[in-house]
Amino acid sequence: MSNPSLLILAGDGIGPEVMGQVKRIIGWYGDKRGLNFDVSEDLVGGAANDAHGVPLHDDTMAKAQEVDAVLLGAVGGPKYDELDFSVKPERGLLRLRKEMDLFSNLRPAQCFDALADFSSLKKDIVAGLDIMIVRELTSGVYFGEPRGIFEEGNERVGINTQRYTESEIERAARSAFELAMRRGKKVCSMEKANVMESGILWREVATRVGKEYPEVELSHMYADNGAMQLVRAPKQFDVILTDNLFGDILSDCAAMLTGSLGMLPSASLGAPMESGRPKALYEPVHGSAPDIAGEGKANPIACILSFAMALRYSFDQGEEAARLEAAVEKVLADGARTGDLMGPEGGTPLSTSEMGDVILAALDASL
Ligand code: NAD
Repeated sequence: MSNPSLLILAGDGIGPEVMGQVKRIIGWYGDKRGLNFDVSEDLVGGAANDAHGVPLHDDTMAKAQEVDAVLLGAVGGPKYDELDFSVKPERGLLRLRKEMDLFSNLRPAQCFDALADFSSLKKDIVAGLDIMIVRELTSGVYFGEPRGIFEEGNERVGINTQRYTESEIERAARSAFELAMRRGKKVCSMEKANVMESGILWREVATRVGKEYPEVELSHMYADNGAMQLVRAPKQFDVILTDNLFGDILSDCAAMLTGSLGMLPSASLGAPMESGRPKALYEPVHGSAPDIAGEGKANPIACILSFAMALRYSFDQGEEAARLEAAVEKVLADGARTGDLMGPEGGTPLSTSEMGDVILAALDASL
């Protein structure tokens, strides 16, 4: 049987630096665990624009559709700020998400004990936190028609439309319930059914899909209350299911519970392919960090944890994903810190590759 395939799109700024450490870890899995991947690499974002005049070449798009999973670093940077909107680096990423039809965005918010002091909340509220936000990514008010700025009488009116079909809600809900089955078996669905018809439909469909998962406890919450509960008592949640707009806001809010941007992975999943694996793109939440790019200061953990998500959700290697997450947890507990994780007590930060070194050593020690 052939190896599973991975397309690496390292992108711009710190993207290639953090991805460099992921490539070492992929190599480790081949050498030490007999888990081999067919890895190919290509350009995205500003790097693709420099080479081809577009932020994603058609050939790269075609490759992304064929592989078992795509791993992306980050795109963008000041060099590209003046480019026309149609060829901005972010358009490459948006094209990938759109053409792969990645409708389910998974953003874990996990607080490693060693970093609990970094949260803006009290340590006891966040220590041990482990929640997953499932955000519908391809529909809702960011895409609904009509949209635009129109003349009305003697003034202008800005219009966006919140629109969800039952099937769009259903597939997002199903992905949340499937995830909950692998985790704490709880889903909290968030909408505004009190004031929005799309929220009423969302609640109805989530309830219907929930009946197919009797082991999963389903609750509903208005999204504004959800935002409050996320900062009041976030550990009450396991999986949060929500739409595109509320998910955008709630997932950023949940992210800050955990401290640094350099720690946050994400996955965007689509429909199952012939292999049974979902179409999938894994990427850190952070951007290309032009302020530190090229200096070897970037924290590679968000990108490394994105690869751990790929192991779990694309390659059914939950135990190996847990091994990698445990290695990250261990080095943090031992005091390993890149610059973004330095507390007021100071110390000498590790470089990007030194953080890779200690994580690889922890992986070795796990055998
Ligand atoms: P950013 O995430 O790149 O950086 C915000 C701050 O966090 C910076 O101070 C940066 O140094 C720091 N930071 C981010 N990741 C880090 C890491 N791994 N280790 C250490 N520090 C880290 O956001 P920004 O500055 O708003 O955007 C910079 C560029 O990235 C822009 O061109 C933007 O459009 C792009 N961007 C891309 C993505 C993506 O590729 N998915 C996401 C957000 C922003």
